[in-house]
Amino acid sequence: MTALLKQHLIDPVICIRCNTCEETCPVKAITHDSRNYVVDAEICNGCGACLSPCPTGSIDNWRTVPKAEAWSLADQLGWDELPPERELSRDAAGDDAGSEAPGFTPPPLDSARGSTIAPASAATPAVNLYTVRQPATATVAGNVRVTATASDSDTHHIVLDFGSLPFPVLEGQSIGIIPPGIDAHGRPHHARQYSIASPRDGERPGYNNLSITVKRVLTDHEGRPVRGVASNYVCDLQRGDSVQVIGPFGSSFLMPDDPRADLLMICTGTGSAPMRGMTERRRRRRQPGDGRLMLFFGARSQAELPYFGPLSKLPADFIDIHLAFSRTPGQPRTYVQDLLRARAAEIAGLLRSDHAHIYVCGLKGMEDGVIDALRVAADQHGLDWKPLHARLKAEGRLHLETY
Ligand code: NAP
Repeated sequence: MTALLKQHLIDPVICIRCNTCEETCPVKAITHDSRNYVVDAEICNGCGACLSPCPTGSIDNWRTVPKAEAWSLADQLGWDELPPERELSRDAAGDDAGSEAPGFTPPPLDSARGSTIAPASAATPAVNLYTVRQPATATVAGNVRVTATASDSDTHHIVLDFGSLPFPVLEGQSIGIIPPGIDAHGRPHHARQYSIASPRDGERPGYNNLSITVKRVLTDHEGRPVRGVASNYVCDLQRGDSVQVIGPFGSSFLMPDDPRADLLMICTGTGSAPMRGMTERRRRRRQPGDGRLMLFFGARSQAELPYFGPLSKLPADFIDIHLAFSRTPGQPRTYVQDLLRARAAEIAGLLRSDHAHIYVCGLKGMEDGVIDALRVAADQHGLDWKPLHARLKAEGRLHLETY
């Protein structure tokens, strides 16, 4: 009898290359090149930890194949789309007992640092309405720079209008933008993911539009000059231009639909986009007795902080804002986690509340420092962080989105 394998595969058409699966996989079975995310059949044990964090569902693809003929990493890296299900020989198809299908065990929530489920009161999100094969066409309704012109950081606020096309979104969700043209291999560019920066009822209330926050990429991680394909395309868009959009994506990084909920929002740079959407949602519906909003926002300097002007106009009795600047001449380097530590008593007060929801978005590197600052605040004020952390995750009240 032929041994069968239920091979785990990632759909390259839907995948938005956000790296969540690779980070989540507890056995390091997922890897990627400049184009595709792929699963090593030799390593994958089908534990399912990667399934629910994936914002698009591209991760949830399986093909039954004879074990000896499993697709290799090289095969998968060359794909533009998933292969069809293979016809199995009568010998193999009849052999369920010989199958090594990974079971669909529930995702082990503890392997992730943050929640993989939405807050209990969150509205139900629409996801994957538009795909690479059938994208939505949006029209650029506005494009403004939101960092000071004197700064090196060229970050833009772009408003996309969907006209009569339905594109329902919730705060915390993201979209994908497909840059026009082809890459160095002659293939269409893959979509880039951007968090939505506006509330569900639109950047302009009642209009079928949304906004995103995009920083122009001019250097790579090592500081060498590069021109980011998508970010430069988006930052250069003009009013009236058409843009191919896919999504919306994301079903866990969502805000509670409960005005009593306290929101602790911690972000760096363009990671402020979802915080802007949530804050604006709460501002538009503000009423006495609402829960507390606390924002910790890091940037190199005031000039590089997106939306500094509008942010500084928000009333202090509506939102408690703490800005951390890392490169202000003459000032010590300050990160968001330093400010969290300085406000440990208030943070502990929030952690003690069943209404508190925590959102972290921005640079990957901030995650360790932020989680540690929360742990210290809890432990210093008589809360046991380990069970509290587990409870926050299990209740959809600790959300991390870092790249
Ligand atoms: P950035 O300007 O590179 O960094 C913002 C601030 O974070 C700087 O002050 C930086 O300090 C500081 N920082 C660096 N390492 C840190 C650490 N370990 N802990 C805490 N703070 C740290 O930010 P950016 O270029 O805008 O990047 C924002 C990130 O958000 C990107 O990774 C992006 O992919 C991600 N993101 C973007 C979106 C979107 O919709 N556009 C959505 C979600 C996430 P120094 O550089 O001085 O050390």
